[in-house]
Amino acid sequence: MKEKKLNGTVIVTYRCNARCSMCNRYKAPSSPDEEITIEAIKKLPKMYFTNITGGEPFIRTDLKEIVRELYKKSDRIVISTNGFFTDRIVDLCKEFPNIGIRISIEGLEETNNDIRGLDDGYNRGYETLKKLREMGMKDVGFGMTVQDQNAKDLVPLYEISDQMGMEFATASLHNSFYFVEAKNIIKDRPMVAENFEKLINELLKSKSPKKWMRAYFNHGLINYIYGQKRLLPCDMSFDTFFIDPYGDVMPCNGTKDKEVMGNINKQSWDELWNSPEAESVRKKVRCCDRDCWMIGSVSPAMHKYIWVPATWVIWHKFKSLFMKKPYSMYESKIVRDYRDGKVSKEELDKCSTCDMNAIIKDGLSEASKAQLLGKTGEEIVDADIAEQMKG
Ligand code: SF4
Repeated sequence: MKEKKLNGTVIVTYRCNARCSMCNRYKAPSSPDEEITIEAIKKLPKMYFTNITGGEPFIRTDLKEIVRELYKKSDRIVISTNGFFTDRIVDLCKEFPNIGIRISIEGLEETNNDIRGLDDGYNRGYETLKKLREMGMKDVGFGMTVQDQNAKDLVPLYEISDQMGMEFATASLHNSFYFVEAKNIIKDRPMVAENFEKLINELLKSKSPKKWMRAYFNHGLINYIYGQKRLLPCDMSFDTFFIDPYGDVMPCNGTKDKEVMGNINKQSWDELWNSPEAESVRKKVRCCDRDCWMIGSVSPAMHKYIWVPATWVIWHKFKSLFMKKPYSMYESKIVRDYRDGKVSKEELDKCSTCDMNAIIKDGLSEASKAQLLGKTGEEIVDADIAEQMKG
C-alpha cells in the first residue's frame, strides 16, 4: 500500500528576537539544550508539506542540518522567518533553492517596525526578500498578520509583493498557548473587513488560480474575525501535526493549552501516532470550537474539500465578468447583521477566543521555565544572539 504522507509543522525553537505586539513568545523562549535534535527529526514521517517555524528558526545555528534531514522526507518545505538573519537565510537558500521562504512583514515601514519591534525590521525583511529573488528563488513571499493597526497597509503591501512577483500570505489575530496570548482581538471589524474585501477583489482580478484560492482564504478571515464557525471542517491531528521544540506532537498551534499526542524523543512515530493519547486529542479536535482560520489548518482543508473553495471561486469569477467588484463583505450574513444593528459588538466579542481574564499558558518545559527565574526572555535571547555573533 502507498505510504500516506502527512502535513507537518516543525517548531524548531521558541527563541525569538522580534517583539511583536500580538505574540508574547519572545518572553517565553525554549532552552537551546532542550530543542528538537536531528535524531528526533529523523524519526518524523514522510510529509507532502513541511513548515519550519519558531520562534525565529534562524536563531538555530544548526538549521541547515535540520533542513537537510527534512528535505529527505518532504515534498515541499517552507520556512517562516522574520527575515532578520539575512546572511543565514541567503546561505541556506544557496544549498536549497527549491524551498520556500515567508518573511513576516506587518505593513509598510512605520507600521511594521511598530508592531514587530525589530530594529529596521522592514528594510531588513524587504532586502532579504529582494536578495532571494535576485538569486532566482521562486517560492518567496511576505506573511502579514492583519489587525486594526495595519489593516490599511494590506493592499499596498500586496501590491509591493505582486510587483516583485512574490507570494502574499495573510493571517489575523489568534490567541493560544503558542502565541502566549489570550487577549488578542480585532476592535474595528468593519474597517478590517473592508480592507480584506479590497484585497479579495484584487486577488480575483488576477490571472492566477492560486490567487483566486487565496481570495477564498481571505473571505474566511472576514468570517473568522466576526467570530463565526469555520467555513471548512478542521481535521488537524488526522493527517496534519505540529511538533514543538521539546518533541511533543500536537494537533495544531491554536489550542488554549498545549494538547499532546505523544513525544518523539520517547516514542517511535507509529507508536505515538496510534497511541490512545493521540486518539483522545483527535476526539477533542472533532468538537473544538475555537474556529481558527490560519493557513496551517486551512490549507489542508482547502485541498481536502476542494469543491467548496472551487465553487466560491467559480461564482465570483463569473460575477467579475459583469461587475468591477465581484466580492462584497456583505455577502456574509453576520457582516450585514452587524451593520444593521441586529448584533452588537459585545456579542461578537463573546464569539471570539479573546479572554481578558485568562491565565496565559506558554507550553514551556520546567527547565525552560527555570531559566526565566531572575532573567527575562528578552535578556536570555539577546545574550544568546550576541554570543552567536561573536563566533
Ligand atoms: S479549530 Fe482546529 S486549528 Fe483551531 S484550535 Fe481547534 S483543532 Fe486547532
